[in-house]
Amino acid sequence: MIVSLEQSQQHRRDVLRLLLWITFIGGCLFSAVNVIRGLWWLAGLEIVYGLFSLALIRIIRTTAHIRVWTLAYLIPFFSIMMYALYIPNTSSSTFVWILTIPVLSYLLLGRKVGFWSSLVFVVVGIVIYHFRFMTGDFPLNVATTLNITLSSIAMMSFAHIYERNREMNEERLLDLAGTDRLTGLANRMKLVESFARLSALASRNQVPLAVALVDLDFFKRINDQYGHGVGDETLCHSAELLKSGTKTTDMLARLGGEEFALIMLSATGLNAVDHLEEIRQLFHKHPMWVSGQKIPITFSAGVAELNVDGVDLDTLLSKADGRLYLAKRSGRDCVVSVDEVYAGS
Ligand code: GH3
Ligand code: MG
Ligand code: MG
Repeated sequence: MIVSLEQSQQHRRDVLRLLLWITFIGGCLFSAVNVIRGLWWLAGLEIVYGLFSLALIRIIRTTAHIRVWTLAYLIPFFSIMMYALYIPNTSSSTFVWILTIPVLSYLLLGRKVGFWSSLVFVVVGIVIYHFRFMTGDFPLNVATTLNITLSSIAMMSFAHIYERNREMNEERLLDLAGTDRLTGLANRMKLVESFARLSALASRNQVPLAVALVDLDFFKRINDQYGHGVGDETLCHSAELLKSGTKTTDMLARLGGEEFALIMLSATGLNAVDHLEEIRQLFHKHPMWVSGQKIPITFSAGVAELNVDGVDLDTLLSKADGRLYLAKRSGRDCVVSVDEVYAGS
C-alpha cells in the first residue's frame, strides 16, 4: 500500500518536473519577447518565475513536501497568467494557457483541490478575457465568450472524470494489494502499514499496544483428512471467529498459511491474553461442521507488548512467535504472554 502511494506521488513529481522545465524555457523566451515589446513588468516576472522553476527542479527531487511546493509553484503561476491576460498590449492568445489550468490542477493536486483551483482561476480568466477583449460587435462577442467558456468547462470536466476514475482505480488496487484473497482479512503488507499508524497513535495517546500471533493447531491433519477445500473452509471459518472477537479499533491480518496476527490498541500483554482467551472460548463453542461431522478447531497464541518487548513490529512478532512456540510445546490450545502459559478448558 505504502509502495503504491509512493508511486502515485512519483507520477505527480514527474509531471511537475516536466512543467518546471517548460516554465523555465518558456519564461526565458517570453521574457526576451516582452523586453523587446517594452512590457518590463511582465518580462521581469517571467524571468524571476523561470529562475524559481529552475530552483524547484532541484528541490522536488528530494523533498518530502511535494504538495506544499506544488501549491507554492502553481498559485503564483496561475496568477501570472491572470496578470498577463489583464495588462494592456498582451495578445488574446494568452488565453490558451488558461486551458492548461484544469489539466495541471487535477494532475498535480488531485480531485478536490484540483476542482477548486480550476474553478477559481478559470472563472477569473474568463471574466478578465471578457472585459479586456470583448469590445467588438455584440453577437460576435457572445459567440467568442461562449466558445472560451464551453471549451474551459469541457477541459475541466474531462480532467475531473479522468482524475475521479484514476483515484477510484487506485483505491481499488490498494484495497486488493492489502487484502488476503482467501479470507478477505488484511494481509501482511496491510498489517505493517496499520502497525505504523496504531503504534504512533498509542505513543501519542500514551496507551499500551499488544501484538498477538495466532496459529491453528494441527491444521495439516484437517487438510490431510478432509482435503484442501475443507482446509480452506476452516481458514475462512477461523477468520470469521477471530474477526467477531476483534474490536473495530484493533487490526486483524492473515500472515499466511494458518497463521494470523492481531494488533490490539489500548491493551497490555495481560489484557491481550484475556481477550484471546475469550476468542479461544469462541472457537470451542463454534467448531466446523462438514457433512454432519464435527471438526473441533483450536489455536495457540503468543503475545508481546509495545515498549516492553520491543518498539518495532519485527521484534514484537518475533517475541510473540517465541511465546507461540512455547504454547505449542505446552500442549497447544493456549495463550502465552511474558513467557507464562495461560490455558483453559
Ligand atoms: P501445529 O499445531 O504445530 O501448528 O501444526 P500444523 O499442522 O497446524 O502446522 P504445519 O505447519 O505442520 O502445517 C500447516 C499446513 O497448512 C501445511 C500447509 O499445507 C497448510 N496450508 C498453508 N496454507 C494453506 C492454505 O491456504 N489452504 C490450506 N487448505 N492449507 C494451507
Ligand atoms: Mg499450525
Ligand atoms: Mg503455522
